[in-house]
Amino acid sequence: TDKEELFQNVLTQVAEQFSRAFKINELKTEVTNRLTMLEKRVELEGMKVVEIEKCRSDIKKLREEMASRNNRLVMCHFLDDNKMLTLRRDVPSYPKYHLSQETMEALRKPTFNVWQWEPNEMLSCLEHMYHDLDLVRDFNMNPVTLKRWLLCIHDNYRMNPFHNFRHCFCVTQMMYSMICLCGLQETFNQVDILVLMTAAVCHDLDHPGYNNTYQINARTDLAVRYNDISPLENHHCAVAFQILSQPDCNILSTFDPESFQHIRQGIITLILATDMARHGEILDSFRHKVDSFDFTDEEHVTCLKTMLIKCCDVSNEVRPMEVADPYRIHGFRQDRLLWLMSSDREKAEGLPVAPFMDREKVTKPTAQIGFIKFVLIPMFETVMKLFPQIEEVMVQPLRESRDRYEELKQIDDAMTEVKSYFSHAAQSSRKYSSAAKHLDN
Ligand SMILES: [Zn+2]
Repeated sequence: TDKEELFQNVLTQVAEQFSRAFKINELKTEVTNRLTMLEKRVELEGMKVVEIEKCRSDIKKLREEMASRNNRLVMCHFLDDNKMLTLRRDVPSYPKYHLSQETMEALRKPTFNVWQWEPNEMLSCLEHMYHDLDLVRDFNMNPVTLKRWLLCIHDNYRMNPFHNFRHCFCVTQMMYSMICLCGLQETFNQVDILVLMTAAVCHDLDHPGYNNTYQINARTDLAVRYNDISPLENHHCAVAFQILSQPDCNILSTFDPESFQHIRQGIITLILATDMARHGEILDSFRHKVDSFDFTDEEHVTCLKTMLIKCCDVSNEVRPMEVADPYRIHGFRQDRLLWLMSSDREKAEGLPVAPFMDREKVTKPTAQIGFIKFVLIPMFETVMKLFPQIEEVMVQPLRESRDRYEELKQIDDAMTEVKSYFSHAAQSSRKYSSAAKHLDN
């Protein structure tokens, strides 16, 4: 009958309404969940912004410092002796810091906590390494000259956010721990050890904060002086020998001219090898030698030494996560952040930007995964062929770090999905509300 049919219709409509209401509720819960995720994300991003602001102000200070330097020293500021003469102190003034037995033991390992020390303590640690490796004894170094030299090194690293005296300390400490871990004193001669340590100490001297790409594109004084060929590394090296040319800082004064020349060549080769633009070339050359490596072949040994300083230079990622690292910001390292920032500056000045440095083209985890996967892991794994003992303490942490960044990237990708989900959800909810209106009528 008509009444039954009407009743049936009403029932069907009510059922439909119920099911829509249920679906809407379901959607609400889902949207709420995703919203919570998004809020967490926003909070994290906020923290990143604070860190970026800090970096910005550091960079601003750096720019001002560079500007004032540029005013003072027109062309060859490292030829201007006044700077180093005024900074150098005749009597080493860092108070004797007594290293405990515990610290001395820890200092020999890649897990050493490099962040908790004051400059004076880092100086004492460096001094200790030269004594501990018997370099002072074997080469008859004047211990006071060693102190003065280290102090002068300290004074010639700039207060810049990454390539500062602490970076010098980190790289040298990693070199020292690799010498210990790989038993290099048994395979290398003491001159090689001296070259490795001294190159590590000097490798970023007077780093102005901007990379070679910037130097070359902006046609800075350094790029002009070194004809665009590794301008920064050439400069670090020149400053190193400028310091050693002062008699009271010359830790190499006991060598005859021929040995000095040999050591000088060794240090120059190692510092110039730290230019990442030469990474592929150096790694390839080592790969050709590693399977039939000959410790008596000078060319082989030199190539291995360049690999060792390269490993130490980028070894921050090897250091354990538990070690508080102020340069690691929410899974993203500050040096990489500085890369991106110097690319911003290049853009602002209308200079070309390398695609892997472009903030708009590279997401943070992607950049970091690429660096670990294609630069760090292959390099350390090749060195591992000669020294299997580095697998546990150096290669394994890198693999873990890679996995961590990959997780981070998945979260990033998921967030992109959530964003597109939201725009869909907005469309669907409009559909639901128009359907509900239809029922009311
Ligand atoms: Zn470096």
